Amino acid sequence: SRTYVVTGAASGIGKATAERLEADGHRVIGVDIKDADVVADLSTGEGRTALVHEVEQRSGGRVDGVIAVAGLVAASPVTVGVNYFGATATLEGLRPLLAGSDAPRAVVVASLAALEEVDEGLYERLLADDEPGARQEAERIGTATNAAGSSAIYSTTKKAIAQWVRTHAKDPEWAGAGIALNAIAPGVIETPMTAAALESAEGRAALDAGAPSPLNGPAAPPAAPAALLAWLASAENTHVTGQIVFIDGGAESIRRPERI
Ligand code: NAD
Repeated sequence: SRTYVVTGAASGIGKATAERLEADGHRVIGVDIKDADVVADLSTGEGRTALVHEVEQRSGGRVDGVIAVAGLVAASPVTVGVNYFGATATLEGLRPLLAGSDAPRAVVVASLAALEEVDEGLYERLLADDEPGARQEAERIGTATNAAGSSAIYSTTKKAIAQWVRTHAKDPEWAGAGIALNAIAPGVIETPMTAAALESAEGRAALDAGAPSPLNGPAAPPAAPAALLAWLASAENTHVTGQIVFIDGGAESIRRPERI
């Protein structure tokens, strides 16, 4: 049995992932801003420090898998704090605890929205690891939306976290230390995040137009990404790393069929 840390464990995909891993007989340390083993606000420096400290205490200093799911869609600087800096702080902060595992793995949840055009100003500040600058850019962007009609802040944070995985997976600290590092990019998943849109026929149609899902669409239950996260973070995953795995019923393949 392995020990996993799952952020965003109180709801949606994170909750389904924690339940899946526990059902498989593993130990899960759930992290969230509420209703979790470790209560921490990942939009703040204090919360990120508390996360590392408390996971250290609870795990006895060794974890086998880190699964960073916490995130939000609000058109707000807080989204920058959680989706990008909270996620990188989770992955980097807990990386030392993975050193004790004989099969260490890390996965983060990006999004199909990462395919939208980015806001260049925000994207640059994210890749520069400049949180105050990135928050300022988010203030400037405000409620502007991308071509798909969702927050430009959200899609830019998701592209940046996916790029972060691409950049770092090969590094000595990750691949060199035997740690597989991947992202998943979900299309539409039935969680509280999408509940309002999925409630009406119009909302479902709009989501399906933005992310057409010919395979079992238009939306997937959270157990679907949970199973993928569980495998990518499992001991069985010995050679998949640096990948952004789309779990979207085919939307990405429709959007850019030429890409292999
Ligand atoms: P959700 O709202 O059900 O769950 C998100 C969780 O993150 C919540 O429990 C929330 O409390 C937690 N969280 C938010 N802010 C936090 C903070 N400051 N500190 C700690 N925890 C915080 O949503 P979900 O659909 O399960 O989303 C999970 C992840 O999947 C997110 O990163 C989201 O962007 C991504 N995603 C979701 C969809 C979808 O269709 N639902 C699609 C693509 C990507």
